[in-house]
Amino acid sequence: MIFSSKFKDVQIPDVDIPTFMLEMGKRSYKSAEKNVDYAIKDYSTGKSFTIEDLESQSVAFASGLVNDMKLGKDDVVAIFSQNSIYYPVVIFGTLMMGGIATLVNPTYSPRELAHQLVDSGAKVIVTKSDLLQQVKEAIAVKGVDLPASRILVMDTIKDPKGLNRHLSDIYSNLPFSRYSIKSYSEAKDKVAILSYSSGTTGLSKGVMLTHKNILTAAIINSNFSNMDGHHDRSVSPPVYISMLPFYHIYGLVINLFIGLMNSAGLVVLEKFDIHTFFKLLQDEKVTFAHLVPPVIISMINEPGVQKYDLSNLKLVMTGAAPLGKDVLVKFCEKYKGVSVVIAYGMTETSPSVSVTFRDHPFDGSSGVLLSNTQAKVVDDEGKELGPNQIGELCFKGMNVMKGYLNNPKATKNSVDFDGFYHTGDVGYIDLDTNIFIVDRIKELIKYKGFQVPPAELESLLLLHEDVADSAVIGVQHEDLGTELPKAYVRLTSNHDGLSGDHKEAKANEILAWVNGQVAPHKKLRGGVEVLDIIPKSASGKILRRQLRQMENNRLKLT
Ligand code: AMP
Repeated sequence: MIFSSKFKDVQIPDVDIPTFMLEMGKRSYKSAEKNVDYAIKDYSTGKSFTIEDLESQSVAFASGLVNDMKLGKDDVVAIFSQNSIYYPVVIFGTLMMGGIATLVNPTYSPRELAHQLVDSGAKVIVTKSDLLQQVKEAIAVKGVDLPASRILVMDTIKDPKGLNRHLSDIYSNLPFSRYSIKSYSEAKDKVAILSYSSGTTGLSKGVMLTHKNILTAAIINSNFSNMDGHHDRSVSPPVYISMLPFYHIYGLVINLFIGLMNSAGLVVLEKFDIHTFFKLLQDEKVTFAHLVPPVIISMINEPGVQKYDLSNLKLVMTGAAPLGKDVLVKFCEKYKGVSVVIAYGMTETSPSVSVTFRDHPFDGSSGVLLSNTQAKVVDDEGKELGPNQIGELCFKGMNVMKGYLNNPKATKNSVDFDGFYHTGDVGYIDLDTNIFIVDRIKELIKYKGFQVPPAELESLLLLHEDVADSAVIGVQHEDLGTELPKAYVRLTSNHDGLSGDHKEAKANEILAWVNGQVAPHKKLRGGVEVLDIIPKSASGKILRRQLRQMENNRLKLT
């Protein structure tokens, strides 16, 4: 059975992202009665931009990319940075000249950054001064074709040697032909954002998201928000905390883009710590916080919260990873007057395909299917199942990615002939189109909402001289509310007969070796365990379910 959204389809205009976001934003910042006087503000410095500032800077940056950096249509600009008020300037500027923005996790090691730079073919990289060292190491990696002159920094502290230019140093008022989308087919095909995701299997891949994909997701989510009263101006102007990373699709579309469209004030918190977080919510009168499950758990466990006045906070959204019903109930008991909505989606669907109504009981549902979207649930053989039957969740709509960059095989394996994206999530859909997720069959591990592709850690482990075989899975840590990546290794035969203590020492050595080379969220926080054999199927596929079962059995024994 094909499930169609119970909401009426909404019209998605055939325009480009900056034109739509800035026009919507300008209209809405001007017209709404209760509004803040900024579009985006940095909490630590107080520096802010209005929507008009964002537009004029984006245009000047676009002109600089064309006239100074000599970039043209479809050239890629990489952003390697924590959240910043300049982030939308770089994205909009890049799109205004017909370019593509690839967003990189700022905690990546030089090796990981180099991979994305090569894979995306980035021609310019925009970063922050405290990340310059990583960038310099990354561009020195073989295969990266990016001269130092193409590094721009987006914060105010300039490189003391003056080697790296500030973003605004290339701003130009020379004319350039502004890219604009005029037809349906162009909107559908023109790639705007290149996010990275491992999807259901393998290494991280470039997810090609078109102007149409992103606008569809932004509009259907914003429509739902407005229908469910997420931007209630009757008491105070809507203010969002921008803490979810903009490099991740949840932060980019659901926080940044929808915030701009709806004239919310966006207050950027660059680095999370619980007290600054509470202080920001208080000082900036935040009304709506987009969060991930571990932050919700920290909020429940934090004893010092009474010190802060959080009376403006009306709504919290959680997404990017599962969160138990009991936790949600506890949260609402502690934070009276704050509603929680759950959003579910993925990078490949730009992202959310479902959101819960704010008065929906916590019954395990991850939301109701949004407008313009269809869903189906299939069994192992690909046969469509009916309502309330458990299988793999699949989604179709104009928010489904164009495909994986330079990887038609991976695209074909995940988007079927009828245009449904196969998520690798297991669940069911009820007659009212509520979506329930019960398991994940894809390899992906989520550490605090961040993607950890096991295949990447497994291939890194194989580069260690003592490792003959490896497997990585996620083990759930209830108190932290997240999975932790754990590795199993088979040692090379010269270690046969090693005693228990020696095996443990070797495991610790391998652990330190891996952790020294990966971004913090990919660290093997679940540990490394030596096994005599890594369970595999006849075709050589790692039997992750067997490893998960082994961990579950151990849990039961403790
Ligand atoms: P990403 O592409 O990083 O957004 O990861 C998408 C994956 O995160 C989904 O396929 C799910 O496995 C998981 N996920 C996202 N939102 C939720 C949610 N609300 N509940 C459970 N899992 C989720």
